Amino acid sequence: MPKRGDREPKVLARESGNAVYSFSAANGARMKAAPGETVIFETLDCFGGQIRSADDKFEKVGWDKINPATGPLYVEGARKGDTLCVEILDIQVDSPGIMVAVPGLGAAPDRIRESVTIIVPIKNGLAHLPQDVILEIRPMIGVIGTAPAEGAVPCGTPGPHGGNMDTNVIAEGSMVFLPVCVDGALLAMGDLHALMGDGEVLVCGVEVSGKVTVRVRLLRGHSLPCPVVETESAYYAVWSAETLDAAAQGALYRSLELLQTGVGYSAEDSLALLSVRGNLQVSQVVDPLKTARMEIPKSILKGRNLIPAQA
Ligand code: CA
Ligand code: ZN
Repeated sequence: MPKRGDREPKVLARESGNAVYSFSAANGARMKAAPGETVIFETLDCFGGQIRSADDKFEKVGWDKINPATGPLYVEGARKGDTLCVEILDIQVDSPGIMVAVPGLGAAPDRIRESVTIIVPIKNGLAHLPQDVILEIRPMIGVIGTAPAEGAVPCGTPGPHGGNMDTNVIAEGSMVFLPVCVDGALLAMGDLHALMGDGEVLVCGVEVSGKVTVRVRLLRGHSLPCPVVETESAYYAVWSAETLDAAAQGALYRSLELLQTGVGYSAEDSLALLSVRGNLQVSQVVDPLKTARMEIPKSILKGRNLIPAQA
């Protein structure tokens, strides 16, 4: 949460036409913020609030209202070639969360015989799941990205701009580094999950609306080879591709670039260190492109920053 003495954060409200369905320079900015400012993004769930009870089936949901993101936010001074740093200060999720099992969707599409909507009440930080399983929530952001240089990328698709990365380390306390491809960067986010495992095998996490408080900063004149997430203990190079193999290799190759540029490690040394201490992880296998992430633990960096400090 914002520290005492900070200015009141700006609020990008869930209502009033702040939802976009693609990342594009054509989306006019809804709000401006200067580097260092704190902004609250109020987000809809990935169904755009169209599913409210177990009787509301996914088939009734209009595809044109799937995966809304709130924004875009124009970050003052952001120019092509910079990197936008999004510090996630707080994520509050609403209740209930929603999950859908849909024949033909997800990682085991032939095993789902009928469309089922699962309502997941969330109380006191606990998600009440099927079979009376109760688990602690770990709120995360499914969709977060900036506008690409050209064209429009639907919010349901991940890519070099970020987007639907469905990467569960994008959570409170982490920092997300995204490319600036157009003036202002045009940051948008949505698709919160109260809980989601690696893979997202059903095709969704516990889908919820909520509020994300972020502080934006800029790394001027410095671009990264891919979206990067920083946590207390590691950096993660995130890459999406048609196949999981290509996504995994892309994440690894980009982490080699990060290590070469950031701390001057050779490819051989980087691979040796990653091979013993870096976990290659699956973010999701159910979106139009699959997403993998290469963990670069801080323990192999000997106290050095992989990415320079932000303005
Ligand atoms: Ca998602
Ligand atoms: Zn989602």
